[in-house]
Amino acid sequence: MEDCIFCKIVKGEIPSKRIYEDDQILVFMNINPSTNGHLLVIPKEHSITFLDTSNEIITHSLDIVREKIYPLLKERLHCSGLTIAQNNELGQEIKHYHIHLTPRYEDDGLDISYDKEKIIDLDTIYEKLTK
Ligand code: 5GP
Ligand code: ZN
Repeated sequence: MEDCIFCKIVKGEIPSKRIYEDDQILVFMNINPSTNGHLLVIPKEHSITFLDTSNEIITHSLDIVREKIYPLLKERLHCSGLTIAQNNELGQEIKHYHIHLTPRYEDDGLDISYDKEKIIDLDTIYEKLTK
């Protein structure tokens, strides 16, 4: 897609540090990492969110993370864990589907904070989701 930064990265029009690629997906380094080794997994074909990305792509992406990327991060960077995250619409800066792979280290200070004041009680949310 024209004017999409990640499509340009796929095509090599914008440089990136590529870690893995095949005919369906590309894994490359996040230019602004949250921790050492923060990677992004993207489909080569443009899609936007989880909802318009095929099961095949998502399954393949996670297979590659399980088989190749997480083991690589453990072996080479000695991470103690891996956070797998994916923003859709709100919170999604780049409108090309991507999965964040954030290696975790003891005392890395990575903090996903929530405003507890805004949390509505469990029963209310449960009713909205099921009734
Ligand atoms: P989002 O907020 O959309 O879930 O995450 C987008 C991510 O893409 C951000 O973490 C940001 O650092 C990364 N990013 C944005 N532009 C570029 C770029 O040109 N190259 C690379 N390698 N990463 C980028
Ligand atoms: Zn794109």
